[in-house]
Amino acid sequence: MRLNLILPKVEPTQYEYPKKCPQKGCRGMRFTPRQEVSKKIVDAQHPEVTAWRCECRKCGHVFRVYPKGVNQKQISKRVNGMAVMMYILGLSYGAVEIVLNSLGMGIGKTSVFRAVQAVAKQVPGLKREKLLSGYKTKAVGADVTSVRCNGKWVTIGIVVDAVNGMVLSIDKLPGEDAEQLKTWLEPILEAVDADVVVSDDADALKRVSDETGRSQQVCKSHVVRNTEALVAELSALIGAGQDHSLDAMGITSEQALEDLAALQEMIHSRRPEDQSRLEKIYLRYANARKPGKGKKYDVAYRMRNLFMDRWNLWPRLTFYRNWKDEDGNEIIDGTNNHCERAIGWWIKERYRSMRGYKQEQSALEISRLIAFAGNHLARGLRLADLMA
Ligand SMILES: [Zn+2]
Repeated sequence: MRLNLILPKVEPTQYEYPKKCPQKGCRGMRFTPRQEVSKKIVDAQHPEVTAWRCECRKCGHVFRVYPKGVNQKQISKRVNGMAVMMYILGLSYGAVEIVLNSLGMGIGKTSVFRAVQAVAKQVPGLKREKLLSGYKTKAVGADVTSVRCNGKWVTIGIVVDAVNGMVLSIDKLPGEDAEQLKTWLEPILEAVDADVVVSDDADALKRVSDETGRSQQVCKSHVVRNTEALVAELSALIGAGQDHSLDAMGITSEQALEDLAALQEMIHSRRPEDQSRLEKIYLRYANARKPGKGKKYDVAYRMRNLFMDRWNLWPRLTFYRNWKDEDGNEIIDGTNNHCERAIGWWIKERYRSMRGYKQEQSALEISRLIAFAGNHLARGLRLADLMA
């Protein structure tokens, strides 16, 4: 997990006057400082600061103005920020209390909990309603994962900008069949104006891209890995000479091994024009018969399925090769790595150190908070901006 969090500071000499009188209905904008009052706070550097009692020149309302990083509460924004940071980094609420107390900052675990929840609630976007205020991208990556909440597995969907890796949305899903994924993904595709869906090889997301009329890129890393494993396994079976299903079709072992080697080579070069070559090979095995119920699939039938699947998959696997910007550069790299990284870093990593979330809502909100921090790696996320 990489994070770049900027802690709030306490500036005892900088006062933040309100723009407008806090008294309801008063539009006064000028205030007279009446009296200094000292205020004890919980902070890493300043045990005490000075607040001002101020009076509105319009209505006479008296209120306090605190230095930057302090409000009417006792715990400074810096300490709340440290609590949130430690929690994000993997400490439990109780452990944050122990660490901060041992450093002389008296904060209870309930306050730690409240600080984390308060910041999480301020995360803008990453919720469908808000995300979608004008952000556009040509391609999104989508994936589904699950986390344990209160003893039950909860399905979580994540959508990233497939071009730059920004996390766009983290949502709880009722399940992961095609219809449920479509209900979730379609409004996001509409909102960001995406033409392309990047995903792994799961059928449900293929259907979503078909039914929403989007092009699809199936992650090349997944397909390469699966294909290599199958080529190795089938080649070994053919080499062992125990399976006679190919002989029965009049296909020699040499021919079959050559076909597998050709697939291995094509899956690495991923040239869009190889689809017809795959079709030709598939046709050699097309008549292989499905073994009877309860019988193991033989080599011939498995060859048929493998070549049929890769032939059909080819346009989705090689889509990125032909999708280029004005300068002729590929726009996406053909993998769903942005999505996988986002799940690993922003959802799973924090989650690993606990035995599961207690509430679904915190699972979502904490994941969104961490992902939001992840979206701000370059310039850093100012925690003060997320504190009311
Ligand atoms: Zn006033």
